[in-house]
Amino acid sequence: MMANNQVPLNGTKAKHDRRVAAVHYIQDKFGEDKVKVVDPAKVLQKRGTSTSSTTDSSAATDGLENHYNCLTEKFDPSSVASILVGLFREIPRWEYGSVVNFAAYGGGYPQDGDAEFAALRLWEAAEQWNSYDLGVKFAWVDNLEDAAFVLEYGGDKEGVLASAFFPNSQPLSTMFVYKKALETSDTYRKILKNIFLHELGHVLGLRHEFALDPHRFEGGALIYGARNPKSVMSYEFPPEVQESDITDTKGFYKLKGLDSGMLKIKDYIPG
Ligand SMILES: [Zn+2]
Repeated sequence: MMANNQVPLNGTKAKHDRRVAAVHYIQDKFGEDKVKVVDPAKVLQKRGTSTSSTTDSSAATDGLENHYNCLTEKFDPSSVASILVGLFREIPRWEYGSVVNFAAYGGGYPQDGDAEFAALRLWEAAEQWNSYDLGVKFAWVDNLEDAAFVLEYGGDKEGVLASAFFPNSQPLSTMFVYKKALETSDTYRKILKNIFLHELGHVLGLRHEFALDPHRFEGGALIYGARNPKSVMSYEFPPEVQESDITDTKGFYKLKGLDSGMLKIKDYIPG
């Protein structure tokens, strides 16, 4: 398993070329099986013939610890969260009109079917964000070389459920889902789509709702729009997209530019 998403970079090459090189690097280092991804066509076809997978997340959360445990903003230079430092210099965003492609690794999970299960929940969360017409869309692709990010099983991170990344120039970023979020004995599995709604918020450039809270200061953030303690980017459980999340994220993506003096918007191209 890759411990992080740092693959060798050659900044002079086009992003797609760098991505192809990154995929080859992963393949050489970890083997052919490692780069196999879930086929969206197959999974979605199977899903179409079964009953709706929509779960009533409010009913499903009884007995859960009332906090969301996400690693994305925890500073750890060895992990994907190292992008956090960049946030102190800029406000990363995807270029308006971008499609952010993702793939999902087909292997590495402890239980049969988990790769497909997790990929499908991520796709459902992506579809929900897509429905808000933010100006940036997610698409599920069947080839790692076309993906801006990949969903990967990250093993046991104790209480942590998932981690993501912010818009960046990496050819291939990683979203991790951890053991706790997939355990069949745990109710987190039932609300995995909601967990991904929060993580995709980070992928869109959203920080934690409480990033500037003096008691849990994560820093380097700017408030855009109204604060809402129920935001999908809070640790409210289960994460649900609020009306203010939609309005503010839409507004954020429509901004022609923003320069607070310390932080400037930087648009990245996912492809
Ligand atoms: Zn988070």
